[in-house]
Amino acid sequence: MPEKEIRKLFSEYPDILYGFTDLSYCSYKNSYHSALVFAVPYGKQLTPENYTEEEFEQGIQTARSRLETVVAQIEQILQKHQTKYWVPPVAQENETELRALFSFKTAAARAGIGWFGKNDVIITERYGPRVRLSAILIDAVFPYGRPFTACRCPENCTECIDICPCKALKNVRWTLEKDRSEIIDYQKCNRMRSAFIKKLGRKSSCGLCLAACPFGMSGQEPLRS
Ligand code: SF4
Ligand code: SF4
Repeated sequence: MPEKEIRKLFSEYPDILYGFTDLSYCSYKNSYHSALVFAVPYGKQLTPENYTEEEFEQGIQTARSRLETVVAQIEQILQKHQTKYWVPPVAQENETELRALFSFKTAAARAGIGWFGKNDVIITERYGPRVRLSAILIDAVFPYGRPFTACRCPENCTECIDICPCKALKNVRWTLEKDRSEIIDYQKCNRMRSAFIKKLGRKSSCGLCLAACPFGMSGQEPLRS
């Protein structure tokens, strides 16, 4: 079983959060039993005071590079054990639905890594929303995390809603039954970010609703850069 080696690998990355969920809830259940989900913290924990889009984008790139390293190491373990797996793409399928083939965020909530905040981002207790997620679907059974089934944002917190420049967030607390559209107008968010393509050569990363979140803003453990 690859579990022991996967856990040993993550013991070498103590700042990375990880967990397992079974896939009985999703359309991949007939091909893979489980998903391994992990969350890499952004190097610099941005707040509204020190936020710049450039630094947020840099944090994404740095976290992405670490994710790729870890994914490659897990792939090696799974190949050694001849275990079937699939690394789902991060990219959304198209600009209409704006949904990825496999939702890392849903898997993260089910694996017990965090809950969906009012900003539609996974909020972890240690880093708040300042993490980048990845997942690997694995055809093996693991001990599963305790899922989050409801939002733990304080009822009266509106920091992410107030800071959003296009008012895309609806001040709705997530539960497992809720659809994304009840929490965020994703088209509005995407239009705002897409407006920067001409200037930046890419969509704006816009991490304002992450930077504003009080979870993970203080008391976090020292991070690797
Ligand atoms: S990413 Fe930016 S535009 Fe989108 S919801 Fe968050 S603050 Fe609003
Ligand atoms: S800023 Fe407040 S409401 Fe928004 S995700 Fe963070 S805790 Fe939840």
